[in-house]
Amino acid sequence: MHVTETAAARSRHGFVGQLFTGRLRWDLLAAFPTQDADDLGRGDAVIAELRAFLRGHVDPEQVEAGGALPGGYVDGLRAHRLLNLQPGPELGGRGLSFINVMRAIEAAMAWCLPAGYVLALHNGFGAGAVAPIIPPGPTLDYVRDRIAAGAVSGWADSEPTGAGNTHMATVAVPVPGGYRLTGEKIFIVNGSIADLLVVTATLGGDAARETRVFFVDTRASGFRVRLVQQLMGLRGLPIAALALDGVHVPAEAMLSTVEPHWRDTPLLEPISALARMYVIVAASLAVARRCVGWASEFIARRRVDGQPLAGYEAIRRLVADNAAEAFAIESVAHAALIGLDHGNLATRWFEQVAAKNLASRSCDRIVDRTMSLMSAEGYETAASKARRGAPAVPLERAVRDARAFRIAGGVDFLIDYYAVRDGLLPLCEAAPAPPAGPVADPRLSRRNAAHLEAVAGEVDRLGGHGRALRSRHDLDELHRRQRTLILTGQIAHELFAMAATLARAAALGDAGQALADVYCTAARHRVAAAWLELAADADRDLDPSIAACLRSTTM
Ligand SMILES: Cc1cc2nc3c(=O)[nH]c(=O)nc-3n(C[C@H](O)[C@H](O)[C@H](O)COP(=O)(O)OP(=O)(O)OC[C@H]3O[C@@H](n4cnc5c(N)ncnc54)[C@H](O)[C@@H]3O)c2cc1C
Repeated sequence: MHVTETAAARSRHGFVGQLFTGRLRWDLLAAFPTQDADDLGRGDAVIAELRAFLRGHVDPEQVEAGGALPGGYVDGLRAHRLLNLQPGPELGGRGLSFINVMRAIEAAMAWCLPAGYVLALHNGFGAGAVAPIIPPGPTLDYVRDRIAAGAVSGWADSEPTGAGNTHMATVAVPVPGGYRLTGEKIFIVNGSIADLLVVTATLGGDAARETRVFFVDTRASGFRVRLVQQLMGLRGLPIAALALDGVHVPAEAMLSTVEPHWRDTPLLEPISALARMYVIVAASLAVARRCVGWASEFIARRRVDGQPLAGYEAIRRLVADNAAEAFAIESVAHAALIGLDHGNLATRWFEQVAAKNLASRSCDRIVDRTMSLMSAEGYETAASKARRGAPAVPLERAVRDARAFRIAGGVDFLIDYYAVRDGLLPLCEAAPAPPAGPVADPRLSRRNAAHLEAVAGEVDRLGGHGRALRSRHDLDELHRRQRTLILTGQIAHELFAMAATLARAAALGDAGQALADVYCTAARHRVAAAWLELAADADRDLDPSIAACLRSTTM
């Protein structure tokens, strides 16, 4: 996560940016964003079409069994004008709001996760998603023409040497009329079906090591799909290893930026944070909701010693925790997306960054609890259950699928680290925020009012913690203290989720109070644990033991 000055300046006014300066800006969330009826209706209409299309064209069990989406899947999307959800009608798209794109993708993922992933990558990370930041001129014309013609797209960044390197090993060498790209990309969703890929590459022969984004036509000679990769989950996903062997890219197909690295281009990072709302948050919500449904069906039918499962306290708590976490994922998504457009995208950038880990970790806990609940029947494959006449719930598949959400788009702990290192730490202020006074909201239940008060106290503590980090350590040393920054990020993100959940509950009235209470109770335990660990991390007593462990594992 590289933070440009413009985007950072704007995002510091957002809820998470403010929170890191020690201010709980309840006013930013209290009027919790809701979709207006027209926008909701527009989204519902497309979602209904998409569901009908998927039911008719994609059998999720066959995708799982055969390991591939049906051959005509993308052509069908194109024919039904369901490929471009976000781009406007002038590009053959539906022009949906960001929240409606996420809802539509979630609906597709709920039916068949890999099928929804194709849409999520295309709409989130594809060339059409990048188009709004391309200045008018031949590059924009080129991209728009291809998207309007129905090109399927994706984002090709990761390489066999890893995704974490600042500069790509793929090299773009300037040649007359354009560039020649040479390198390898792996884990590229839509890589085996894409017409136009957004490819990152380092400009060759340049000491400044400039890293740029190129729009690569996959019909160009030298472009090759090496293989479709097989993952632990997400069976059927067209995710591929690609070879670029001197692929010629015309000059206008490079996104020309003032900044030497594409990540420093204003709005490109916020656009990828938005894309993770589709690729990760929508996926997490789809899986979380399905688990909540499976669990409620299971406890209704299963009895132990004649007593319905729902009668046991441990089971009731487990199911309530799941429902509360699904509510929290949705609250975070609404706080991050409703009312957003390209004009104010950067203001809620840090909220979207936070949403990636919040959603995927909640989803992880939800599938894990559901697995414990359904026990052996959960661990059994859906096909085996179908063969013996048991309800063919694909929970085992969900466990395999959901683990990807903490990796795709960035490994979870690294997201926390960069969020603090590059995004939040620079916002720490030397002077403490003026005392905000008690934060109260009469719409909250007694227990939730206490949670809100606790959040206010924690935000104050976080502001003081950030200032102390900045004053005690120089930045280089702080950047090396990765665990400290990771835990700090986790606390900040948990506080955001609690505030979003409480604000939504306040807006909903009775319907949300219990869910927010259960969520915040557990989140406060996680925050307390993170503070404990931070305190232990401060004295570095563990360092010699860590070094000894590493020595013993490399012997
Ligand atoms: C389902 C799925 C879909 C994906 N889709 C795409 C896609 O469409 N396009 C695309 O380009 N990529 C895609 N990826 C790749 C994904 O973005 C990367 O896997 C992810 O960012 C992690 O990178 P890596 O696996 O290369 O690990 P590496 O970058 O090699 O990292 C290895 C380990 O080192 C850690 N690490 C890295 N840097 C640091 C550091 N500075 N400090 C401490 N630890 C560090 C990482 O967290 C990780 O644990 C996808 C992956 C999956 C699983």
